[in-house]
Amino acid sequence: MRIKGRAQLEKVIGTQHNFWLPALLGGIVFVSGCYAVRLSAAIGAHERDQQTAQVLSTQAAEIERRLSYTLTSTYILAQEIMRAGGRFDKFDEYADSVLQMIPGIANLQLAPKGVIEQIYPLEGNEKAIGHKILQDDARLDEALLAIKSKGLTLAGPFELIQGGVGVIGRQPVFLKVDGTEHFWGFTSALILLEDLVKDLGLQTASESNTHFQLGRNHPGSGKQEIFAGNTSPDFKAHHTINIVVPNGTWFLRAQKQDVGISFSDWMGFLLTLVATLLTFALSNRLIREPARLRKLVAEKTTDLHHIAHHDSLTQLPNRRGFMELLETCIEKANTNQRPLTLMLIDLDLFKEVNDTLGHHMGDLLLQTVAQRLKDCSYKQLALSRWGGDEFIAVLPYDIESPECQQAVECIRKQLAQPLLLAEKEITVSASIGMSGLSDENNDAATLIRSADLAMYETKRTTPGGYTRYSVDIQMREERKLTLKQLLKSAITNNELQLFYQPLVCTKSGNIKKAEALIRWNSPQLGMVHPGELIPVAEDSGLIQEIGDWVFEQATLQVQKWRQTYHPEFQISINVSPTQFRSEDIAKRWTSRLTEIELDTNSILLEITETMILDNSEQTNKQINHLTGAGFQLALDDFGTGYSSLSHLKMLDLSYLKIDRTFIKNLPHSTDDQTLCQAIIAIAKQMQLEVVAEGIESDEQRELLTSLGTEYLQGYLFAKPISADEFEALLDRPSNNVYPLIAKSQ
Ligand code: C2E
Ligand code: MG
Ligand code: MG
Repeated sequence: MRIKGRAQLEKVIGTQHNFWLPALLGGIVFVSGCYAVRLSAAIGAHERDQQTAQVLSTQAAEIERRLSYTLTSTYILAQEIMRAGGRFDKFDEYADSVLQMIPGIANLQLAPKGVIEQIYPLEGNEKAIGHKILQDDARLDEALLAIKSKGLTLAGPFELIQGGVGVIGRQPVFLKVDGTEHFWGFTSALILLEDLVKDLGLQTASESNTHFQLGRNHPGSGKQEIFAGNTSPDFKAHHTINIVVPNGTWFLRAQKQDVGISFSDWMGFLLTLVATLLTFALSNRLIREPARLRKLVAEKTTDLHHIAHHDSLTQLPNRRGFMELLETCIEKANTNQRPLTLMLIDLDLFKEVNDTLGHHMGDLLLQTVAQRLKDCSYKQLALSRWGGDEFIAVLPYDIESPECQQAVECIRKQLAQPLLLAEKEITVSASIGMSGLSDENNDAATLIRSADLAMYETKRTTPGGYTRYSVDIQMREERKLTLKQLLKSAITNNELQLFYQPLVCTKSGNIKKAEALIRWNSPQLGMVHPGELIPVAEDSGLIQEIGDWVFEQATLQVQKWRQTYHPEFQISINVSPTQFRSEDIAKRWTSRLTEIELDTNSILLEITETMILDNSEQTNKQINHLTGAGFQLALDDFGTGYSSLSHLKMLDLSYLKIDRTFIKNLPHSTDDQTLCQAIIAIAKQMQLEVVAEGIESDEQRELLTSLGTEYLQGYLFAKPISADEFEALLDRPSNNVYPLIAKSQ
């Protein structure tokens, strides 16, 4: 699957996610939190309730205790009076000790015959002295009740004459006179309601939000009397405790504390809210996590896809990326019946830039070229860095169309702009191979292969130009393939043959030298010439075997001709640069010569200019071994390459061969004549002998002889001929070959 952009990416992984689940979880936490808060509030309220009830019962008990103390004090007083027979002289002293013993009593009173006569302490209570209880309506009922019941009564609370509100415990005292009981009066104890309420803490309780009521049902009227606490009509008693007093019942009530929403409730709600939000956020995050990870993975996949499909140096699609693009382009072109042309652009001399300026500069060059190709104004469907220094462009035009022609021009123009690399201005050119979509060329692999073949054709014939793939190229390729296959068995089938072409000595006119030139007499293909055979042999790796075969044939031949014709006869053989890849070529060949007892100078090795330009360590080593062993070297095709004198000096050369291209226009071309003179001058300076190749006319023979050439070779004397024919040539009586033209081969 190819993921193109972020929009598609989001579509693939889906960015929408469900908010409902986090919301639900948040909701659950919220409801649970609220419930917990309310529950804790209810528990709190219940606890407070319990507490109130507890406080209430404690206080009731306290009231009861107080009252009972009070009544006890009156009882003690009454007993004392009865014991004293109605007289009580030391009342103050006695009362003081009682009050010290029993706390909470405001004062003690003695009221003989119902009239208050003594009060202890008196201070503040003076007004009450003389008060006639039995004539006070407010107190009469209870006083009579006390007399009637002869028991303790609790009177009040009521307004006191001396001020304040109080409760009076009253003990009627009866004296027995002559067996009959006579009412003496009352002993009373006063409790100030204010003190009672204060001591019990009822006030503080009501201040602290718990509302109390202390009251009684009036013993006479039965009406409720509230004498302490909250008197509001809205008071609702949730707890009531009855306090049994001597002549009635009091009650202590409490209203449930209404604290509303407490601080802790508020805190609880706040925490619930925070927990809800956290739950929502966390669950939302957790739910989103897989989607986020998926998104991350998808993003990384897109990045990896980009890396896998693009060249890191130029950011152009690489092979893999380009193949996908090309297949899509082909599919579209086929569907819409539109033309399509592939352009394979191979930089010329990139290797040299890389080798001389360094890889860094090479990279910079590739980046610049990529940018320039992108900047080309023609319409291109795709552009790729196909490998090393190769780029491929896909154009939506027919291969023969003017648009394609313009595109080529555009590329050349762009590339031709000078470029500064390592402070050196260089210009780049490219060899282009084009292939167009057709019935035969209709898949990516075939289109690329065809463009590649066309590009190689450009390199071979017109470097820096362009070639359209044609059937001719295809046929050449097919023939190459056939040659490759058949060549394998050519040696064992004895299909190879050496022909010899004489080198004529200009001084003597004699032939003591010949160049061995290979021929392949193939039953299937006919006579194959070395121009076709050697590149195939080099390509397929068969050149080592063939080279050794040539060497061996030549040694046999030269041995024979040395014996038959001249002891210094020499045969030159052509050596291909790839033969020097073999480590022990020098060793093999010298031991072969020793074996058949031949001098190394019987074989002359012809090497080419490209070989010395190559200048590899291995080649130099092998050449040095060979010359060291006594082999002579001739530099073949001199002038066709660009070797400098310094290059030449590095080799132990014996001969220079002027290439046929400089001979063929002679004697008419003055330029070539100058060139030949220059080559000969160089050779002389280096003390080399000169062989002129391709002598076809007498004029050429005369000219080259006059220029000082030592040897001449060419059709004028003989074409390459078989050994037998060569022998026949040598067998001629004078051995003077001028002018002799052998049967053409
Ligand atoms: P070369 O070494 O320069 O050989 C000379 C070529 O020029 C030969 O072509 C020869 O037939 C041709 N020639 C000589 N005189 C004339 C002339 O007057 N007119 C014309 N038109 N041509 C002339 P050939 O035999 O086709 O060989 C072509 C090339 O193949 C040779 O060029 C040599 O480089 C290579 N070659 C031939 N035999 C061998 C071999 O055994 N091993 C290797 N490695 N290369 C070989
Ligand atoms: Mg040669
Ligand atoms: Mg040559």
